[in-house]
Amino acid sequence: MILDLFRLNGKTAVITGANTGLGQGFCIAFAEAGADVIGVARRSMQETKEKVEKAGGNFQEIIVDLSQPNAVELVMENCNSLCQNVDILVNNAGIIKREEAKDVTAENWDMVINLNERLVFFLSQAMANRYFLPNKSGKIINIASMLSYQGGIRVPAYAASKSAVMGITKALANEWAPFGINVNAIAPGYMATNNTTNLRNDTQRSEAILDRIPAGRWGTPNDIMGAGIYLASEASAYVNGFTLAVDGGWLAR
Ligand code: NAP
Repeated sequence: MILDLFRLNGKTAVITGANTGLGQGFCIAFAEAGADVIGVARRSMQETKEKVEKAGGNFQEIIVDLSQPNAVELVMENCNSLCQNVDILVNNAGIIKREEAKDVTAENWDMVINLNERLVFFLSQAMANRYFLPNKSGKIINIASMLSYQGGIRVPAYAASKSAVMGITKALANEWAPFGINVNAIAPGYMATNNTTNLRNDTQRSEAILDRIPAGRWGTPNDIMGAGIYLASEASAYVNGFTLAVDGGWLAR
């Protein structure tokens, strides 16, 4: 049956940035689709755990600051002790620093690139070496952005990092598709989460953005869950290296 292709029963998903926003949404949706979920974040994921369990799912957590130099090793060590296998990785954790290009400090630049770009590559590499390549199966979903396609305003490091996410997605797909690993990305449009609080509080920018979204509203975490389940499941077995925009039509304008 076609709907069976979308089920995640028996799969284990590791989702970074799982305490809030889109990451929390992925945890709940993947659990509802049948996966065991391991959330990674630098602070308590109690709310996510409660929501996953309310949905009948199983949630375990790894608390680690993903900006620290040994973050990948810590995540992998924890995975080894929490589960037998990992089938799905969602590289969702990300940060944004809003500042004009003329003011960007090296410290802020490195902070954004380190989490949004470098970690995406090296956590994917570690998961592939430990689980996906030996299993000849696995799903990696990277969270890209409208700024994988566009330059944005006052967010140059973020735009650089999210453009890189789209490139990393294609590069890894080229190498790993022959091994049964699907590497794809989702580019969310403008979603009402912590990531966009400052933007939504800026009346002028907020109105300009809303004006340009054909769907006429900000997105919510629920809006991208269908894309997440699709890319995490067998339904997308022949989709490789693609960045799927879920943007209320933003890119179509
Ligand atoms: P969010 O609520 O700010 O979520 C970001 C997540 O990343 C949070 O869980 C955050 O944890 C985590 N994180 C940040 N730094 C971390 C670190 N050093 N170690 C561990 N975790 C860390 O915003 P969101 O919108 O859900 O963002 C999720 C992803 O979607 C990001 O990659 C973002 O760039 C991308 N995205 C969002 C939008 C949008 O419109 N909202 C659009 C395009 C792409 P803390 O709570 O501890 O900070």
